[in-house]
Amino acid sequence: MSSSLATVAYIGAIILFILSLGGLSNPETARRGNLFGIAGMAIAVIATVLGPRVTAAGIPWIVGALVVGGSVGLYAAKKVQMTQMPELVALMHSLVGLAACLVGFASYVDTSVQYTGAEKTIHEVEIYLGILIGAVTFSGSVIAFGKLSGKIGGKPLLLPARHWLNLAGLLVVIWFGGQFVAAQDVQAGMLPLLVMTVIALLFGIHMVMAIGGADMPVVVSMLNSYSGWAAAATGFMLSNDLLIVTGALVGSSGAILSYIMCRAMNRNFISVIAGGFGTGGGAPTPAGGAAQPAGEVVPVSAVETAEMLREAKNVIIVPGYGMAVAQAQHTVFEITKLLREKGVNVRFGIHPVAGRMPGHMNVLLAEAKVPYDIVLEMDEINEDFPDADVSMVIGANDIVNPAAQDDPTSPIAGMPVLEVWKAKTSIVMKRSMASGYAGVDNPLFYKDNNRMLFGDAKKMLDEVLVALKA
Ligand code: NDP
Repeated sequence: MSSSLATVAYIGAIILFILSLGGLSNPETARRGNLFGIAGMAIAVIATVLGPRVTAAGIPWIVGALVVGGSVGLYAAKKVQMTQMPELVALMHSLVGLAACLVGFASYVDTSVQYTGAEKTIHEVEIYLGILIGAVTFSGSVIAFGKLSGKIGGKPLLLPARHWLNLAGLLVVIWFGGQFVAAQDVQAGMLPLLVMTVIALLFGIHMVMAIGGADMPVVVSMLNSYSGWAAAATGFMLSNDLLIVTGALVGSSGAILSYIMCRAMNRNFISVIAGGFGTGGGAPTPAGGAAQPAGEVVPVSAVETAEMLREAKNVIIVPGYGMAVAQAQHTVFEITKLLREKGVNVRFGIHPVAGRMPGHMNVLLAEAKVPYDIVLEMDEINEDFPDADVSMVIGANDIVNPAAQDDPTSPIAGMPVLEVWKAKTSIVMKRSMASGYAGVDNPLFYKDNNRMLFGDAKKMLDEVLVALKA
């Protein structure tokens, strides 16, 4: 393939990636957006493999790598549970970071292209920054994977003088950057490069370890953004325009998502990076941190729940991580359909950080074919709870915690939440009294108008459905 044809193919791929991002911003066009993304990536890979920079001797290596990488990806995508998706995404981000580091070292030791003067300095700055961003992304994403999978506790690690440590690390990195660019040959430049890489790896670990459970959504989208910048840096090192543009698209959309997540959590970005929010302790839900008892709870049965739903005119359903674990979305849809046929106004309230990844609940509800027009964002529905007869919380906890509003000492104080307790009756569906991801006790359970339906969400909703049909 000639270089001009490869450029045309790259431009086509870039346009498809932009259309893909546009499509993914709305559930109704998301499928089409995905197809654009797949087509863009296929064109990008083919144009690169057949492009002018790959020699015939390199093709078997690339095909071999594609087969191995593709098989691992296919196996992971088939095997991974929906609830493990955020962990998988974090692992993928770590691979982008690792790739940026490896490409950086490879382009530094590669002497086949000789740079001189300003070009040499620019190339070295690209390498230095590329490895820096790549190393932070790599180690940060590995720790995020550990935290999301529950292998590392959610409690933030707050080292004494941690801000000073970070600042000292930054100054050392800048100083070694000067040494690196001033180095006369590869041997002399290798030491500053290695020292910076180690500091960047430690910084990535420290940054994510210092972040509390409740801030993890911001970290996930922030690492998404970093992985984009790491890819863009790789593009600069390899002089590949497509990689630069694609990396910038991922980097900037990740940054916008981080901003949206910060706003949803009522946090500012700098304090998220500084860490410490959600210090209430407690591991992610799989470890099941038990809440401190704070009163009496009123349990109800599935039959009683069905009765309350049957008598209601207005119902708001709030799904959370537990609905994803139980895979209860299809039963939720069946119940919704039945109630709507009986004339009940059923709507869904979606918190921006519900579940374990941005858009987690929207994806599950769309999969179960719940109509988009009854699925509303938190801001759109929060004022309607006082008019609701029943609010039904399915496997959610932190996102409906009134302590965020009432208790200034709570680790999640200030985080906007869905005000389910303002409905005439709220019903919380979960297996036990365990706390959610942030490890914080939830006073909602003890409110007078709240009922607890204990059990696996899928099993209990199946029983509710049977009772509703009876
Ligand atoms: P939570 O983790 O706060 O609560 C989920 C609840 O679901 C648990 O208390 C658990 O209680 C219950 N549960 C678990 N399994 C089941 C089951 N099979 N059946 C019924 N209930 C079940 O989730 P939320 O969605 O309310 O809040 C999300 C939290 O995750 C926030 O703290 C957010 O910051 C964080 N987070 C969000 C990310 C995102 O991007 N959306 C990323 C990373 C973290 P029990 O064990 O008693 O059943």
